[in-house]
Amino acid sequence: MQAYTLSAPGKINLYLEIIGDRPDGFHEMAMILQSIGLSDRVHLKSIGVDQIRVTCDHPLVPNDSSNLAYRAAALMADQFPEAFQRYGGVAIAIDKHIPVGAGLAGGSTNGAAVLVGLDLMWNLGLTQADLQELGAQLGSDVPFCIAGGTAIATGRGEVLSPLPSLDCLHLVLGKYRNLSISTPWAYKTYRQQFSHTYVSESDGIQGRQQRVHSGPMVAAIASRNPEEVGKLLHNDLEKVALPAHSVIGDLKAAFAACNPLGVMMSGSGPTVFAIAQSADHAAQIQANVRASLPDPNLELWVTQSTASGIHIAYPGA
Ligand code: ATP
Repeated sequence: MQAYTLSAPGKINLYLEIIGDRPDGFHEMAMILQSIGLSDRVHLKSIGVDQIRVTCDHPLVPNDSSNLAYRAAALMADQFPEAFQRYGGVAIAIDKHIPVGAGLAGGSTNGAAVLVGLDLMWNLGLTQADLQELGAQLGSDVPFCIAGGTAIATGRGEVLSPLPSLDCLHLVLGKYRNLSISTPWAYKTYRQQFSHTYVSESDGIQGRQQRVHSGPMVAAIASRNPEEVGKLLHNDLEKVALPAHSVIGDLKAAFAACNPLGVMMSGSGPTVFAIAQSADHAAQIQANVRASLPDPNLELWVTQSTASGIHIAYPGA
């Protein structure tokens, strides 16, 4: 087969805790990640010439070698030069639906889709674990995006343990179109302001384990209890994003006024999500927030949590 179209879901963070510094310069993390229905479409086509081409319909997404989808194809070409020779280069076209620079892993999920798609197109027969190992070279969120569902992520975010699937959450997402937050900025600012709270090397494994507070959230997910999940949402990066951008706090307050099960910023932001009590409640939250914050730059989406990671998109699906 010479062409594939993949669905590439975004993610939210139900839990994000920064534990400390790592010798590799990244942060030691404890995160709970959840795939969402809001997805990009990634089209892959063999082009028979020795090239990788990327196009995207979103003006803020680069079409050059800095695109994570391009980097994923380059990594595959490097790892499997015979397949790249045999099947030729690849054209990658991205239909962007996930907002950019939003804390929803839009770039990471595109990279993940290219790894999965080229494995199929080049008949490599890689396992999910093989693909995730390659994905970790591209970015910390890429391994999660490949598998999707609900998972706890430790290390710099690439060490994954699957959790029972939480595909029953009704979600409303909000983001100002003209506001993006750079992930490196968020972590750098957090380090500047909060490194005195980090566990130190001398605390050892036990000290690190005692520091992680994600246990109650894991239990709430295991019992598939959306009310508890809503109460236990946590994101350390709110401590730097909210003081820098007051509109995020205003958006959280507008969601909170609609009586959701919980409301939180996702990842490094600025997207805010609310967990609704039902599909009808989600639609009502969307309408109420639209009415209370009538800014044309504010985009709102109703979606659901999903158990799916990268998968083949069939026409009309
Ligand atoms: P994360 O949640 O993983 O931290 P994010 O959702 O905050 O990521 P992205 O949407 O991935 O952020 O975009 C961050 C930057 O990455 C963009 O400003 C863009 O220049 C660059 N980028 C590279 N490739 C892509 C891609 N395929 N899609 C979106 N952005 C990309």
